[in-house]
Amino acid sequence: MVGPLSQKLFAKAKTVIPGGVNSPVRAFKNVDGDPFFVRRAAGSRITDVDDKTYIDYVGTWGPAILGHAPITITQTIHEVAKDGVSFGTPCPWEIQMAQKIVDWVPSVEKVRMTNSGTEATMSAIRLARGFTGRDKIIKFDGCYHGHVDHLLVAAGSGALTHGEPDSAGVPKDFSNQTIVLPYNDFEAIQTVFDSIGDEIAAIILEPFPANAGFVFPREGYLQFLRDITTKHGTVLIFDEVMTGFRLAKGGVQELVGITPDLTCMGKVIGGGLPVGAFGGRSDIMDCVAPIGPVYQAGTLSGNPLALAAGLAQLQALEDADGYTQLENKGAQLEAGIKGLLKDHGLDFTFHRAGSMFCLFFTDKEMWNVSDVNGADMDAFKRFFWALLDDGVYLGPSPYETNFISLAHSAGDIDDTLDAMSKAFKKI
Ligand code: PLP
Repeated sequence: MVGPLSQKLFAKAKTVIPGGVNSPVRAFKNVDGDPFFVRRAAGSRITDVDDKTYIDYVGTWGPAILGHAPITITQTIHEVAKDGVSFGTPCPWEIQMAQKIVDWVPSVEKVRMTNSGTEATMSAIRLARGFTGRDKIIKFDGCYHGHVDHLLVAAGSGALTHGEPDSAGVPKDFSNQTIVLPYNDFEAIQTVFDSIGDEIAAIILEPFPANAGFVFPREGYLQFLRDITTKHGTVLIFDEVMTGFRLAKGGVQELVGITPDLTCMGKVIGGGLPVGAFGGRSDIMDCVAPIGPVYQAGTLSGNPLALAAGLAQLQALEDADGYTQLENKGAQLEAGIKGLLKDHGLDFTFHRAGSMFCLFFTDKEMWNVSDVNGADMDAFKRFFWALLDDGVYLGPSPYETNFISLAHSAGDIDDTLDAMSKAFKKI
């Protein structure tokens, strides 16, 4: 249960904001409770309006890879803002950010900035359709790509059935163009491509799906997707909004050595300000307006504050050998959690890559969202609330992945493990 002032603010918020929040998961519905309201955040800690401080593993849903309000970013924002907060005309920050992304992300030869990850995936899909002259796309059940109409589609009942709208307000004609398949199922993909492969504009996926717990591709799966899309002239899109610049400079594609045609990005590259980007092969990207026929635009796209903040964040990561440090912190937490599980006689599945992790309340293997659905959701909820009471904030849903930042100290991780030990006892 959160503090009295948070409760009061939530009651008031609900009178003027739908559900009291500006993005649904913030409402804590997946953990059957009400959210706390934040007064401030610094480093690894977030403090609510009732003055309770938590060690934060949500990190504003991924962007806060240095921790909250790092001086390098806040100072940059102050400096840049003095010269103007938006120009609506080209500025040098745009070239610097584009060059950085091209240098870091293997698939990207050219890149266009957007204001959110949703805009990035929406634009990448439109571009893939414009480039191929095809309408149908494949997405995977449990992969989230923002709130784009034709990506808010739930799985149909068979491999070749078309998706059903996952939200009111999405026309069936849109979802008809989206084929939803189980992640990690080679045969499902093969069946679709054998039958209508030359009609598929794109496959879009999170290469390490992180919105249905955190699951990994089976051996050879990403290479299989690369090969089959190349064979059929289908555009392969990696949605690395979550994993890009988080797991490595070049995201999952660098880690696994598989290069998609297009990549969607966001979160870390905005330093906590609104941002997104999509980029990839030059011949595809050159189909975007003003030189190509695929329209895409944004009043605030390439915003100087967001780009300068993002560049400061990437520079700090590079200077600090950030990905090595994050791996070490992740390894400390993993060893601790696995030790606790053993001590408590629990056999839960734990997944981690670098600074991203997820604990599943089951001993089963996790390969896609159907597996994740089989975990003990009530046990997760009890664990979540026990930790929150003890000052540790995990993602408020069993489907969320958690994030470690450079600001999480060894002491923070020890304190987290102490709280987890108590929470395991309670559940
Ligand atoms: N793609 C992935 C993989 C995401 O995790 C998200 C958001 O969490 C998005 C796209 C949408 O990004 P945004 O919330 O910035 O629109």
